[in-house]
Amino acid sequence: MVDTNSCQKISCSSALNRLKRKIPYGWDLNIYRGCSHNCSYCYARYSHDYLGEDDFTKVFVKTNIVEQLDKELSSPSWKREVINIGGVTDSYQKIEEEMLIMPDILKLLIKYKTPAIISTKSHLILRDFDLIAQLAEITYVNVASTITTMDESVRLKIEPNASSAADRFIMLKEFRKTNASVGLHVMPIIPLLTDSKENIETLCAGAKRADVHYMLPGVLYLRGVTRKHFFDFINREYPDIYDKLRELYKGGGADKSYKEALYSKVVNPLRERYGIPSSYMKAMKEKLK
Ligand code: SF4
Repeated sequence: MVDTNSCQKISCSSALNRLKRKIPYGWDLNIYRGCSHNCSYCYARYSHDYLGEDDFTKVFVKTNIVEQLDKELSSPSWKREVINIGGVTDSYQKIEEEMLIMPDILKLLIKYKTPAIISTKSHLILRDFDLIAQLAEITYVNVASTITTMDESVRLKIEPNASSAADRFIMLKEFRKTNASVGLHVMPIIPLLTDSKENIETLCAGAKRADVHYMLPGVLYLRGVTRKHFFDFINREYPDIYDKLRELYKGGGADKSYKEALYSKVVNPLRERYGIPSSYMKAMKEKLK
């Protein structure tokens, strides 16, 4: 039983947040602020500053988001553009087990035939399998999960409260039975920790078994409050690689020559060997034309 009282309630003046870009999606929807998954590399930590809250795992819920979304999607001006659900923080928080907001959001997307991208590190999404499958029958739906390592001892440190990598692959495999486009995000690849050929190959093999439509890799990027949080974590848990990582990360991105070598020698050859496409746009274009 999840204690919903531990979750702070807030309200929103709009459910959808318009993004500057339009492609691949022009709108974000976030039910929660903060995230109980507590990934060491989470780039969204900055978003808690606005709430005056240091603890990113303290989750805030927008209690009026369903009513608000209904108003916005029923407006004659709504053009049924793609909504990225959980673009800032994961929609399938632990607290979502009790809050049950995602099913109501999905019912509205079905009602207004609105395409969506749903990314999560929680297999709780399987609870909403039928609704997502129904939506995927009428419009474009993308279900994606980030999986960074198959080594559970590392995963438990870097993504302590997310589902196991094995459960996330099971979830992707299940959604492959629907009409949704299904993707694996291998991001971030953390230099010196999850960038080995063995790890990337295990992830490619898992992606192949799950028969995902695409795989998107991305090397760790560090900015703002995330940088300090991440390096404090590395210093605590993996002190042996601390200095080398600092050397690689003089700026926000890893050293250019490191990235070029990783992609040309490891990621791209493996992705090609396993025959996994890197583009998620093909399915989107086909469904939305
Ligand atoms: S699941 Fe996403 S939002 Fe949540 S802590 Fe991890 S990276 Fe951040």
